[in-house]
This record gives sequence, C-alpha cells and structure tokens, in this order.
Amino acid sequence: MENDACNNGSAKCNGVGSAARHVAMLVTPGMGHLIPLAELAKRLAARHGVTSTLLTFASTASATQREFLASLPAAIESVSLPPVDLSDLPHDAGIETRMSEECVRLVPALTEVLARLRETRRLVAFVADLFGADSFDAARDAGVPRRYLFFPSNLHALTLLLHLPELDVSIPGEFRDLAEPVRLPGCVPIPGPDILMPLQDKSKACYKWMVHHGRRYCDAEAILVNSFEAVEPEAAKVLRHPKPGRPPVYPIGPLTQTHCADADSAAAPPSPRSACLDWLDRQPAKSVIFVSFGSGGALPMDHMRELALGMELSGQRFLWVVRSPSDEGEVSANYYDAETKKNPFSYLPEGFVERTKEVGLLVPSWAPQTKVLAHQATGGFLTHCGWNSVLESLVHGVPMVAWPLFAEQRQNAVMLTEGVGAAIRVPEAKGKEKIAAVVRELMVGEGRGAAVRAKVAELHKAAIDGLRDGGAATSALDEVVDKWTGAEK
Ligand code: UDP
Repeated sequence: MENDACNNGSAKCNGVGSAARHVAMLVTPGMGHLIPLAELAKRLAARHGVTSTLLTFASTASATQREFLASLPAAIESVSLPPVDLSDLPHDAGIETRMSEECVRLVPALTEVLARLRETRRLVAFVADLFGADSFDAARDAGVPRRYLFFPSNLHALTLLLHLPELDVSIPGEFRDLAEPVRLPGCVPIPGPDILMPLQDKSKACYKWMVHHGRRYCDAEAILVNSFEAVEPEAAKVLRHPKPGRPPVYPIGPLTQTHCADADSAAAPPSPRSACLDWLDRQPAKSVIFVSFGSGGALPMDHMRELALGMELSGQRFLWVVRSPSDEGEVSANYYDAETKKNPFSYLPEGFVERTKEVGLLVPSWAPQTKVLAHQATGGFLTHCGWNSVLESLVHGVPMVAWPLFAEQRQNAVMLTEGVGAAIRVPEAKGKEKIAAVVRELMVGEGRGAAVRAKVAELHKAAIDGLRDGGAATSALDEVVDKWTGAEK
C-alpha cells in the first residue's frame, strides 16, 4: 500500500518550464522538517506545475540529507546556505535555540540568495518552517511577494504556540507545576508536564525563543499545517474560523513521505532496508509491531533494556530500529545525523537477541519507515509520537503505542490517546510487564485495543480521502496556490 498522495493531483498540473511559478522553502534542521516540506514541494509540482528551491542549513549537510535531496524530482532543487558560527552559544544550548539562532544569523545571506533566485525564477512565495519565521525579514528585503509559515506538526501544537505570548503573561510559574491541565480552544486539555518540552523551563533560552516564534507567526500571510480535520476535529473547527490578527490556517496534510521518486533511498543505508522488508514478507498479516523513535530519538539505557524485555514478554513479533542509548537524556546527539555511532545491539540485555530471533528483527539506526508501515505484515507501531511518524501510521492505517520522548511528542501522545483514540500510551514508569501489556492490548486486545484499531481504520480512510482530488487537504492547498497567480512583481 503506497500513499495515494503520489498519484493524486495531476488534474491541475500545468507542466514545469522556465516560466513556472517558483517557491523558495527554508528548511530548519531535522529530517522531520525536511521530509514534509519536500512532500509539499512534490505536490506543488505534480498538481500545480510550481517548482521549488529547498534552502537547507549547512549544519545539516549530512549524508542522509544529501541522499534525500538528490532523490527528489527535477522540479525541486536545493541550495545549502553558508555555515554560521554558533560557537558563542553555551555548549548545552537546546536544539530549538541553535536552530533559531542559526536562522536569525542567516538573514543577510538568505536575503542575497533569495534576491539572486528572483533574477532567474518567477518567485511567487517564500515558505519557512516552524523555527524559521525570522527569515521572513530576508524574504521581505529580497522583495518576495508572499511569506508563509509551514507548520510540520499539528493544530494542537500550533494553537499552543499562537497562544504562547498571552500564556507567558497569564501563567507566571512553570507548566510542569500546574495543578490543572492547560485548556486551549478546540484542544484536548494538556497536563502541564506534557506541554511542549522546550516550554518546560522558562529560564532557558529555548522557552524565550518559542514565545518569540509564537509572536512572529502572525507575520505570515497564512499558515499551512501538516494535519487533517478528522484527527483533531475541534481544533480544526476553531482554526479554520478567521480571527482578526491571526493569519488564516490551512490544514493541508497529511503530507507524508512518498516513494514516487525513489525517495525512500533517501535516508536509508541500503542493506538493512531490503533485509527488513524481506523479513516482513515472511510474517503473517498484521502480526508485527514496528518499534522506532524517529530520526534522532534514543532511549536512556534502563528504558532500552525494559523495552527489550517487554517486547520479549509480549510474545508479539517485532521489528525494532535500535539506537545506542543516549546518556544526555532522550534528545539524541544524533539529531543532526541519524547514524548511530556505536554498535547499538551491544546494549541489549544478555541473551535477548538469541532468545527472540524467531519473532524479532533488529535493525541498527534507520529503517525505511513508510515502507515498513505500508507492509501488510505490520499491525502496530510503537512510536515516539513525532508528528511525521504519527501521520505515516495513520496514512497506512497502523494503530499506535505511544512512547513520547521530547519536542511536542508528549502532548501528541495526550491528543492521540485522550482525544481521538488512535493510540495507547505506555505508563510513565517504563517496566517490562506494563510495556508487554500495552503491546499485547494494541495488537490483539478485545477492549481498548480493538477500539483503537477501529478508530485508526477510520482515520486512515479520512486521511486518504482528504488527499484525493476535491478532498479537504487538496482543496486547501488549491486555495493557497490560486492566490499566487499574479502575485509576483
Ligand atoms: N524515519 C525513517 N526511518 C527511521 C526513522 C525515521 O524513515 O528509521 C523517518 C520517518 O519515516 C519520519 C521521519 O524520519 O518521516 C521522522 O520524523 P518524526 O516527525 O516522526 O520524528 P523526528 O525525527 O522529528 O523526531
């Protein structure tokens, strides 16, 4: 089963030529940002004949990223922006701070790049992703007619960021100390400790950066969000309703990695990929739970061992992308480069690999996730709830076990479990019995497990329908692109 987005949308295609309308997109670091923006670019090319330039940061010029960019269709070119000196930042500066600083310091260079691009392309719009709103200054100075924000996460996270400047005033203490969950229009109430990770310590620079971004989002002409109504219906209703001072919001998702241009070769070293798909071919339908923590997530050592023992205890078949444990908490040093540096299997419990070899397959560092999720043998996904992973799971109708780590993953887990009911969350104390129980419930349980499986089947249909010609996501993007005609000077 491939994502239908591949084939959809030739209806409005005008062909790609030198006079094609062109969009520049700034991709802040992380495959989780690059993949959905590249998908947006693919849809713009296939359906509207709009070409794109993806502008990437020098700090992310990894082999993974280079291969991914090289695999994209000809209508999508890429430019790596010059390196930026961040050596004055404290060594423990958070990822969000580093990305935000890098973006601000790139404004002069980006202005030049955009001005040059305007000389050779019909540049009709500039799109920045969630940490890139400061680059609107560069787009404005270079005379790009329209500036958009692409929000690769969901409407819940966007609602939080849009409200953050006022929450910054109304909630003086730390979110984690709140007695009551945070209630925002259209959103599932989020307990304080589950609120977006960079907001959890207000003394840190990354908190201030997030408040800043929340403010700057209002400078966008519109905000394109990689989500869809069925997965967060109330939030969609609120944000689709125009509000003075807030840019219009267009849910244009789910945009997930497609394979129409051999894009999956992207990030994956070739041998483990084919090996794991071959292994899946030999497993019964819907019998395997895929275990993966995104492009950079790694577990602390004790959680990694409990997970191994829990998988074994569950008696379920599993395919696990194993990374070396991260001693610095869960935010892996691998964020900028997915390849794990040491042999990750050496951290697994004694005898585990041998004992589980009939039912489990371990893959180091990286797997072709969308192909795994699309495989008929895959029946569940134990995920860190990175939003791309969630969307890929829903697009392929795979129910989830939620094991959030960082960024907005904990609030995604709340929304998926307490809200729409597409996942079961692993309890906070990560013991092997509890892990085993949750995995069994999801895969074969009659109560909650069956309800989650049924809900995900429904969401799968809604996701695919939205991407068809005339579907909600396709129409929302059509509406945005229609405004570009005649936009350039
Ligand atoms: N991914 C993959 N193989 C892996 C790990 C991740 O293809 O082994 C892809 C995954 O399909 C998704 C992206 O990397 O498109 C991860 O994005 P997500 O938002 O889920 O998490 P993040 O990496 O940002 O934490």
